[in-house]
Amino acid sequence: MGKLLIHGADLMTMCEDTPIIHDSAVVIEQDEFVFIGEEQDLPQEWTYDRTIEAADQVIMPGMINTHNHAAMILLRSYADDLPLMEWLEQKIWPIEAKLTAEDVYWGSLGAIVEMIKSGTTCFADMYFFMDETAKAVEESGIRGVLSHGMIGVGPNGADDLRIARQFCLDWEKRADGRIQTMLGPHAPFTCPPDYLGKILDIAGEIDKPLHIHLSETLSEVKDIQKQYGKTPIKLVAEVGLFEHPVLAAHCVHLSDEDFEILKAAKALGIAHNPQSNMKLASGIAPVQRMLKEGLVVGIGTDGASSNNNLDLLEEMSTAALLAKIGTMDSTALPSGECLRMATIYGAKALGQGEQLGTLEVGKKADLVILDFKKPHLVPRHNIMAHTVYSAQSSDIMTVIVNGQIVMENRELKTVDEERIMFEVERCAGELLRR
Ligand SMILES: [Zn+2]
Repeated sequence: MGKLLIHGADLMTMCEDTPIIHDSAVVIEQDEFVFIGEEQDLPQEWTYDRTIEAADQVIMPGMINTHNHAAMILLRSYADDLPLMEWLEQKIWPIEAKLTAEDVYWGSLGAIVEMIKSGTTCFADMYFFMDETAKAVEESGIRGVLSHGMIGVGPNGADDLRIARQFCLDWEKRADGRIQTMLGPHAPFTCPPDYLGKILDIAGEIDKPLHIHLSETLSEVKDIQKQYGKTPIKLVAEVGLFEHPVLAAHCVHLSDEDFEILKAAKALGIAHNPQSNMKLASGIAPVQRMLKEGLVVGIGTDGASSNNNLDLLEEMSTAALLAKIGTMDSTALPSGECLRMATIYGAKALGQGEQLGTLEVGKKADLVILDFKKPHLVPRHNIMAHTVYSAQSSDIMTVIVNGQIVMENRELKTVDEERIMFEVERCAGELLRR
């Protein structure tokens, strides 16, 4: 396969030295960027298999959703506007107990269609029937960092350990390297210390990072305090969690001591989920302080049942607005920082900062082309601010993952969108009747 040239766009590279390039050229060969720069500097002798004209368009790195439960799109708007524990215990958990592998397959594909159409090229997921989500990732061309969620307090704790370990062994680096695997202890309140210890033994044995929910709600912090006399962060630290690479979702309620523990962690990424935290009234995560103190923070949607979509453009805007009102400081979390959270910081949070997150020669070719010839995107004073505060997912025209065009001019190239929407409706309907 020869080279693909995309030229004429403004680039948001998200690199530190050259954040914006005008009149640009991007050249992709196989799964990598081989040229990123001004069109006038292209090597004269190169020829191209394909050329995409991108005048009036803006190109950014593919966005990275650092925390999701993809198949939960089946429960989108199934239960809303309820107190958190009532939402979980009376609505979500009982219906999740009836989910089948087939449901998770179609739910995952439905989520992937939605993610590609809103500019996401990589997502971190924790759920069950993960083999099905992995198949959906393989078929669709998106990138996934997948973990089987483990719950030690229920009847399936021992099975979960075995399934999660086997999932990692079966799927790591599959789908041309687009699949990465993690172990997924659900949370401190569902994985008590002795059970978490067993998971960490497996993590050591097969050398895997961990994806976990931490300090999401005040009631979680209070209950753990009451039971163990310490915060959830301190509890899991004492079991040895942070001696492994960790992707921690939420971290909304943190003490000063928690901050010190997190800063001392071996390799930690935090997934900030502003819309889910707002919708479930969990609280406002101290993102400003995390970034200031050098923690790596990516952005996530969480599952669609507490969001209710998987749109990272919207999530960036919410992150910025929430940080500003949360600190009563309008300079908090500027647009450039939100874009870094959705790209390079997200890549680092997943341990993939060397391969993903910026438009840079040698990195994997994951990108998004936005059409800026839109009423809400003129005049073009600041393309970063436009992308965070004004752009909509319908502005996203073309998406490339690992060098493959997965959407072109809003048409999906790898999967059948109509069929997937039909199957999602069917599975959701059957689930309610089961
Ligand atoms: Zn979650």
